[in-house]
Amino acid sequence: MASTNKTVDPALRRAARRVTWALGLLAAVAVGWLLIARASGTLLTRSAEATAMGYARYVSDVTPGLPALFDTHVLSPEVRDQLKRLTRLGEVFRFKLFDREGRLVLVSDDLDRDVKAPTDAGQSLGGHHGANSHVRTIVLGGANFIEIKSGQGKADRPETYVEAYVPMITAGRVIGVVEVYVDQTAAAARIQTAFVQVSAVVGGLLIVFGVALGVQVRSRFAERRKAAERMRFLAEHDVLSGALNRASFQDALQCAAWRTEQGGPGFAVLCIDLDRFKEVNDTYGHGAGDAVLREVTDRLRSLLRHGDLIARLGGDEFAVLQSAVQNAGDVERLASRIVHALGEPLEFSGQRILCGASVGAARFGADADTVSELLHKADVAMYRAKSGGRGRYSFYDAELDKQLAERRNLAVDLRRAIADDAVSLHFQPLYAADGSNLLGYEALMRWTHPTRGAVPPAEFIPLAEEVGHIEILGEWALRRACAEAAKWPAPLSVSVNLSAAQFRGRTSLVQVVAQALDAAGLPANRLTLEITESLLMTNTEASLKTLEALAAMGVQIAMDDFGTGYSSLAYLWRFRFDKVKIDRAFTQDLDKDNRVALIVRSIVTLAHSMGIRVNAEGVETAPQLDRLRRLGCDEMQGFLLGRPQPVERLVHDEPPGVVPSTPTSPELKDINTAPMVF
Ligand code: C2E
Ligand code: MG
Ligand code: MG
Repeated sequence: MASTNKTVDPALRRAARRVTWALGLLAAVAVGWLLIARASGTLLTRSAEATAMGYARYVSDVTPGLPALFDTHVLSPEVRDQLKRLTRLGEVFRFKLFDREGRLVLVSDDLDRDVKAPTDAGQSLGGHHGANSHVRTIVLGGANFIEIKSGQGKADRPETYVEAYVPMITAGRVIGVVEVYVDQTAAAARIQTAFVQVSAVVGGLLIVFGVALGVQVRSRFAERRKAAERMRFLAEHDVLSGALNRASFQDALQCAAWRTEQGGPGFAVLCIDLDRFKEVNDTYGHGAGDAVLREVTDRLRSLLRHGDLIARLGGDEFAVLQSAVQNAGDVERLASRIVHALGEPLEFSGQRILCGASVGAARFGADADTVSELLHKADVAMYRAKSGGRGRYSFYDAELDKQLAERRNLAVDLRRAIADDAVSLHFQPLYAADGSNLLGYEALMRWTHPTRGAVPPAEFIPLAEEVGHIEILGEWALRRACAEAAKWPAPLSVSVNLSAAQFRGRTSLVQVVAQALDAAGLPANRLTLEITESLLMTNTEASLKTLEALAAMGVQIAMDDFGTGYSSLAYLWRFRFDKVKIDRAFTQDLDKDNRVALIVRSIVTLAHSMGIRVNAEGVETAPQLDRLRRLGCDEMQGFLLGRPQPVERLVHDEPPGVVPSTPTSPELKDINTAPMVF
């Protein structure tokens, strides 16, 4: 039924509604006319009845010889004269007298012709014969058989007249019946005038009422139509941006696919993901985020042609249906224009915001044969653009699709691993520069996949960040590391790596750290938190505040992987770090290039001048250890001194079996594969 309603043309429905209204109005007018006509007829007969009865009464009152006339049918000269005088009285222009048996006694017209009085009682005057059946069935108390007649075309009749039979009563006795002809032309004219006037008034009222009703109904319908249109808009669009929502976009894609399959023009889907939307939200707040989404929609709209569609599929994900696509070049041109348009800074409350976008495109027919496949492939292409460095566009690539599918599966497995407690912590020792004084351990996450075996943290940590598991995983690592460290002899410390995403988490990081320390009963100064400079590159102010709050608790803060970023030095003065960890890339290149030693020395000098300790990561050989020590590094970490291992294998009171000044020996490289000898 609903589908039938849907298919009726709205214009046709409107026309049908109008015809119904017009017919209704006409019917109302017709009924009104009928009622008024009936009422005027009744008025006419009532007035004629009154006239006829008055006339009958008057005639019998002023004509004493009347009973004798009825009885004898003999018209005396006196009665004739009298009746002659009474023939035209007021509106009465004719009458007939009948005796009680209904026999005609006299017709007033005959009086005019001076017809002689009849001599035979059985013969009526003027040659009229027979009995009138109306008279025999007359009812007392009023006029009977009143009939309105038209005299049009008859010379001796008025235009409108009424015939009424009235019993004539003398001394309480019915002596006969008079049929009175009452001229009602004037009355009819009066009634007609009144009728026209009333009609005009009623018609006017009807028109006014009808118009008012029509206006009201029209506005009601308009309101309803507007509400329905609004509901439909809300159901089909994203409220914030006004772009189509996912469901209606998919419907549109289905239609486009059908048209293409029927030989229509080709089309493509472009998936658009904003590159730094999360940062915009975090830094400038959700108001700015909303403004960015609206501005992005407007910019996209300005690039589209008639027939193209734009949709917001989720948070900062948009999609465009590009219609009338003939070749890949068409799609490439639009993709490039989108990247360019969204790469331009946006204005919000006087601030310039750089958001940027990555675009992935797939063509129906060329890349995919179904709508869901097309969307998926455009999405894969978008990821390719993103991983290729953001702010660019890309087309679908089957190899990348495979990798993404594996990644998605891995994300599912990781979620399961977190739930099943299949993620663990290993601990790698940190030694003082002499290589014999154990300072503590760095906690490093480990995940052994049921089929793939050990998955490196460099793979699953970014994945956890991407799919939103890092907060829970990071909190777990923190609690676990603190709980283990609390069992170690003081002052051994534990270093825990933090992901930038943990600074943006729902629960305050300061609170999470405080709770972890509190639950473990670990003094804050025995915990070091390692951050990377990527954290400070985004959301700088808020992150600095959190770091300051953590430092105020007494927790040590270290800058990890120092030297690998773009502007590591720039961040040293923004926050008073307790330690910088020189990335292991420097350690590894130390004996390959002499300039590396110069860089390390500079870092150490700079850090020491600011009161910051220096850790050297990735120490694998004794000469590296020796050299780093001589370059002034305070802390050493690397496979030479100890590999990351499960907590139950840690031995805290034995020094590692290395002699720092010993020249490189191959066996030292494998020190960590042998049983631990501290
Ligand atoms: P990182 O914090 O710089 O950790 C040091 C990495 O260097 C560890 O890799 C460690 O096994 C490795 N390593 C230590 N000594 C040597 C050496 O002598 N030679 C070589 N080739 N490598 C050495 P791992 O365990 O694979 O961790 C990689 C990265 O994953 C970590 O780098 C850290 O950024 C991240 N990560 C590990 N655990 C966590 C965690 O619990 N939370 C967070 N957010 N990140 C973690
Ligand atoms: Mg680290
Ligand atoms: Mg590191």
